[in-house]
Amino acid sequence: MKQFLILFLFLLAADYALPQNYQTVEIKFGLEKKSVRAAERRGALYISVRDFASKFKVGHYYSTTNKKSELKFKEAVIKFTAKNPFVVITQTGTKVPAVYQMPLSALFYDEDIFVESESFRKYIGKAQLKMLSYTGKPVPVQEPEVKTTTTGTPPSAGSPVRFNYSQRANGSVLRIGTESEFGSFRHSLKGKVLTITLDKTTGISQGIRQSYNDGILDSISVSNISGGIQMRLQTGKSFDAYDIIKNSNKSLTVSFRKKEDAVSPSDLSGKKEKWKFDVVVIDPGHGGKDIGATGVGRTIEKEINLAIGLKLGSMINKYLPDVKVVYTRKTDTFVELHKRGKIANDAGGKLFISIHCNSVAGKKRAPNGTEVYLLRPGKTQDAIEIAEIENSVISYEEDPKKYKELNDENFILVSMAHASYMKYSEKFAELVDINFRNKLEINSRGVKQAGFYVLVGAAMPGVLVETGFVSNERDAAYIRSERGQNAIASSILDAVKAFKVYYEKQMKEE
Ligand SMILES: [Zn+2]
Repeated sequence: MKQFLILFLFLLAADYALPQNYQTVEIKFGLEKKSVRAAERRGALYISVRDFASKFKVGHYYSTTNKKSELKFKEAVIKFTAKNPFVVITQTGTKVPAVYQMPLSALFYDEDIFVESESFRKYIGKAQLKMLSYTGKPVPVQEPEVKTTTTGTPPSAGSPVRFNYSQRANGSVLRIGTESEFGSFRHSLKGKVLTITLDKTTGISQGIRQSYNDGILDSISVSNISGGIQMRLQTGKSFDAYDIIKNSNKSLTVSFRKKEDAVSPSDLSGKKEKWKFDVVVIDPGHGGKDIGATGVGRTIEKEINLAIGLKLGSMINKYLPDVKVVYTRKTDTFVELHKRGKIANDAGGKLFISIHCNSVAGKKRAPNGTEVYLLRPGKTQDAIEIAEIENSVISYEEDPKKYKELNDENFILVSMAHASYMKYSEKFAELVDINFRNKLEINSRGVKQAGFYVLVGAAMPGVLVETGFVSNERDAAYIRSERGQNAIASSILDAVKAFKVYYEKQMKEE
């Protein structure tokens, strides 16, 4: 578990610290053709939102504090956020925001947001009527080398380094801003001291000291070393993990995640319970005004999800009497996604099972089968499209702003938390899939990964089960039938039984 977390953190840090490789690419937008700034990373091409806006004279608003770029078209406003895979499109008429997830997070270089070119084309296409296409191969640009500037300001006139420290529900975040640009940064953790070194910074920083009395940090002290500055971050409270992201050549964000024990509600009622697999949360997808997918033979997703969820719950009550079942809904009611996560967290759930049905518009025969999803940035195109469909429920909710807050460091902290449950989620997903393969009369399409809000909200291992395609005649008949629903519920029950044994054994060993 720990090794996994370290690797994960390393990947996160590497993700944003790599040097940019600028290009230009010719874009045809409507009738116009322009060369637009782009950046290449790991074989993918990313388009500069700022440059696109200026070349095609699209209204553009950039927020320095939130690192968000908005493009304002006549039909809608589209918003991209740095280091974040979510896109928000707000139609001018209805003002209802819809949230989508891109396969690759937007990049952030030099106070500009870069969006992966295929996603950019797709979502710009969704937001307005003009066609966007790429008409040429990207051409590399020789950028003038960024020189370290020496400010003429005497050191007494302003501090060369500033700190902005704030608290989140699951950790602390420190933003470090420097007066002049720094080259690279290094960091090391020894005991309770995290040392961060910025190369090529200028200005006299010796003696700067800052103390804090909340969260994970106790104090910071700054000293000059040859060719740069060194900051010693003294931590007080213990933490599970930390992560450092370079926002720009003048700014870093350091996130510390609280020790899980410190936030786990089950801890309040005694240490022992943490090792006990005692609460399962069943989340029948959709409900009320949100009917979910509709398919052949008047198959309505919300009804099937609830029927299977209730069957699963009563089976758990019967065969695992020491495990409490908590439902996010037990009737045909609308429950917001964030509330589902809260219900699960408040109940001290040890496992979260979200039940859904799949659908593909206009295809009665293929595709078909079950899928089990884990929370992780989407990988395949299909997984992304399903995440879009399931996440689109947000537009029904009263305050979609809540979800926009899931960005930057918040998103990092949430992902970090989930990394520690991943082993368990993977195990459970595998068990569900094995049981589906053995017991169901419909195909298994295997275990997949995508980013679902409902899984982000629940701070516990969890999966989202797609029980079959309502758009496929055979699947729809099966998941509508009493026999099919019982077989699905009992397959999940058997997975829960096996998972309980695994969970308690692992927890005792850790
Ligand atoms: Zn669904």
